[in-house]
Amino acid sequence: MTEAYRFSPAVQSVLEASPVPFAIYQLLNHRCAVVLVSDGFVKLSGERSRDACIHLMNTDMYRYTDPADAARVEDQGYRFASGIEENYNAVYHSRAASQKEYHLIHAMGRHIQTEDGVRLAVVWYMDETAASAYPPYEQELVQSLNQTVQIARKQRKNYYDDMTGLPNMTYFHILFADAAKTMSAEGKTPAVIYLDYSSMRLFNHRYGFAEGDELIRGLGRLLSTVFGTESCAHVGSDHFAVFTEGDRLDRQLDQLFASLTGINHGNVLPLRAGIYLCSDGDYDVSRACDRAKAACDHLRGQYVSRRMLFNDQIRKEISRKAYILDNFTRALSEHWVRAYYQRIVDPETGRVTDEEALARWIDPESGMLSPDEFIPILEDEGILWKLDLYMAQQIIQSMHEKQRNGIPLVPVSLNLSERDFRSCNMIDKLSRRMDEAGIERKYLIIEITERAIGRDPKLLAKIIEECGKAGFGVWLDDFGSEYSSLNILSCYHFDLIKLDQKFLRTMQKENGKGKLLVAEILDFTKKAEIHTLAEGVETREEADFLKEHGVNKIQGYLFSRPEPEEAQLAWYRNHLSMNQTEPDRLN
Ligand code: C2E
Ligand code: MG
Ligand code: MG
Repeated sequence: MTEAYRFSPAVQSVLEASPVPFAIYQLLNHRCAVVLVSDGFVKLSGERSRDACIHLMNTDMYRYTDPADAARVEDQGYRFASGIEENYNAVYHSRAASQKEYHLIHAMGRHIQTEDGVRLAVVWYMDETAASAYPPYEQELVQSLNQTVQIARKQRKNYYDDMTGLPNMTYFHILFADAAKTMSAEGKTPAVIYLDYSSMRLFNHRYGFAEGDELIRGLGRLLSTVFGTESCAHVGSDHFAVFTEGDRLDRQLDQLFASLTGINHGNVLPLRAGIYLCSDGDYDVSRACDRAKAACDHLRGQYVSRRMLFNDQIRKEISRKAYILDNFTRALSEHWVRAYYQRIVDPETGRVTDEEALARWIDPESGMLSPDEFIPILEDEGILWKLDLYMAQQIIQSMHEKQRNGIPLVPVSLNLSERDFRSCNMIDKLSRRMDEAGIERKYLIIEITERAIGRDPKLLAKIIEECGKAGFGVWLDDFGSEYSSLNILSCYHFDLIKLDQKFLRTMQKENGKGKLLVAEILDFTKKAEIHTLAEGVETREEADFLKEHGVNKIQGYLFSRPEPEEAQLAWYRNHLSMNQTEPDRLN
């Protein structure tokens, strides 16, 4: 760490005694630090002492600057202090702590070199508002300076983001194009980094939007310090883009991750960083950002700060994504997408109580695509509701087919995303389809995954209430996969909760804690009169354990794999007389 410059005591006391307001700065560890202030400056600042004034300047320099000017002046100051600009000439509005109104300040600075070769910046300040009370020509000057402030603010708005003070994406494109040219001329590889906080929604939900905004601004400031303001952009919400040299990237990211705890007094989220190296001479910034973002998205679901370099696997996923989006409409109209059904049984009697409908995309080119491949893509694009309505239609048709074959109906569950309810009036559409088909609404159950709680808890409460009113059952899917707490069960009224497969997988672990946990949850839900279903039951031992602890329903490969409609109908025809689903009697 470099030490702040110290003048000799004699020089210091002469400088400090000056009634002219000025301050002397030094760039220390990429920060503008104050090394000396004159009496005139202390008076202008309105602070009660020189120490208080220096403390304020070194900890929160722009606290009393008009927020409309703060980021602009901060940048200008940094550029001057770091030597990018030779002179400093800034006009802005600021006030002393004790003043209510902002005054117009005109600041001018230049660099000086001390005898021992240290570069310092001296800035003189004029309070033009106070001066305007005197001669008339001063008033004219104030008027014209005020105009300058307005123009500077307007210009800044075109290039910088209001919230963080960082360049906006339009300006970032210009900055990157210039920097990439210079780097490539110097034989360096430009890199773009895309940054995104993990679980920002959850943070906003827990601490409120004001705190969330503070977290975003804090990251903006940190990025400025690590990469330099003119290399960063605020993309929107909690997303940022940065460019740098490929060789410096790792060190800078280490520094960034290590400094995260300094944001928002340590109440901060982990950060995901996706990296794209423009090593093939392609400097298209949109493409570079898209690729860095794809790498960043790859880290979703991880609650630690991590980085990920764009690679061939991600490249393939991008083209898979494009394929899915380009062919989605066709996949529905040509029935490449089909509903598969998995039976759910009562562990006591072994009878089928319900079924779950699961989507499969059987592609003429790529073969079978699992929902994990296409559901998140459709959800991100906001078109998942189309697939889910299509699935509802498939379920209705298969119910008609069962009726034609004399097979009694059981309720079928449909997986929906909470986003479906934002995209269209889902409940209305489902109600209408069931009514028109002449099938009682109780035969359709809606499964909402636990992730919805983290994403939009209010909407979830509304969905549960409205589904119940409309006559559909509502199940909580994947309980235990993410933000689980038993609290969820008392806050939301679901007709049933589906314990995620994770519980069964931990149950298999030797130490017995997994079993204990499942037993405890089942004990609690029984007492609270909450119905339960265990997903992913694969062995007889698991089924027996769950049955012993009072689980209400069981679903898993032990009883049935998800099957297409024809296989499902054939199974019912074979087993109708027996009305049993014991696995040893299957096949
Ligand atoms: P989910 O709703 O939790 O569905 C259960 C998943 O576990 C299914 O995966 C199922 O095939 C699998 N599974 C069932 N029993 C067993 C077992 O004994 N062992 C193992 N290892 N796995 C078992 P699938 O079909 O790949 O679906 C994945 C997820 O995709 C579903 O999880 C659901 O969240 C989503 N999904 C599926 N179809 C749809 C749909 O039509 N709409 C929406 N919005 N989401 C869907
Ligand atoms: Mg499900
Ligand atoms: Mg599930």
